[in-house]
Amino acid sequence: MSMSLVIFLAFAIMAALTLVEHLCNPGPTDWWRNLQAWAIDFGGALLVYKFWPEWHGGSLLHAEAMPFWLALPVFLLVRDFTEYVFHYAQHRLPALWAMHALHHTDPEMTALTANRHFWGDRMVKSLTIWPLATMLMAQTDTILLIYGLVSLYNYFVHSNLKINFGRWSWALTSPAYHRLHHSPLPEHYGNNLAALFPVFDIIFGTYRRPDGWPPCGLDEAPGSFMDLAIWPARKLIRGAGEPPAGAGTAASGRTTTAAEA
Ligand SMILES: [Zn+2]
Repeated sequence: MSMSLVIFLAFAIMAALTLVEHLCNPGPTDWWRNLQAWAIDFGGALLVYKFWPEWHGGSLLHAEAMPFWLALPVFLLVRDFTEYVFHYAQHRLPALWAMHALHHTDPEMTALTANRHFWGDRMVKSLTIWPLATMLMAQTDTILLIYGLVSLYNYFVHSNLKINFGRWSWALTSPAYHRLHHSPLPEHYGNNLAALFPVFDIIFGTYRRPDGWPPCGLDEAPGSFMDLAIWPARKLIRGAGEPPAGAGTAASGRTTTAAEA
C-alpha cells in the first residue's frame, strides 16, 4: 500500500511538473529516453527489493525508541548523509562514475531526468549505503514511508524551472542548486552533491551557491534502449565509438576530471 502510494504520487508529480515545464519552457526534451531508463531501473528495483538481503545487525540509533518529532529529522539527515557519501563516491571513483554518468547525459534537464539512472546504481547502493544507513539508524514503517514521500522532492530539483533559493540556498536544494551539479563546466564539476540538505556540501567543501542557469549534459548520450541497459559496458560490448559531432570540450574536461579523481 505504501509503495503504491509513492509510485502513484511519483506519476502525479512527474505529470504536473512536466506540464508546468512545457508551459514555461517549451522545446524538445529527452523524455522518452528518461522513461525508458526508468522502466529498466524499475525492473532492477523489483529484483533488489525482492531478493537482496537486508541489514539485520545492530543499529546505532532506533527510530522507535525516539519521539517522532526527533526521529524523523534525524532519520532524514542520516539518509541524506549516506546519499551524499555515495554521490561523492560516484563523482570520484571511475567505476561508479561509469554508471552514474548516464544520469548526467541528459542534454535538457527536466523532472524526468530524475528517472535517468543506470539500473546497477541501485544494486550497488543496496549493498553499501543502504545497509550503512540502517546500521546508523533503524527506521519504522511510518518514517520509511515519509522518507519515500520526501524523496519525491527529487523530481522538483531536476525540473527545468528557474527557481533559485538565493541566500537561502544553504538550507535546502533547489532546481538552480542541482542544475549547477549537472553543469559540464569544469568549475562546476563535483559540486552541489546533496540531495536534500546542502549542509553536507558545506561541511565537505562541495558547496557552491547557484548564481545562474548553466548548460547541462555530457559529450555523449545514450542513443537507444540497449545503450541504457548496458551503459557502463557499451564500449566494451560494441567497441569504442567516435564522440558525436560537436562534442563540447567542457564536457570532455569533466570526464577527465572524474577519471583523475
Ligand atoms: Zn551526480
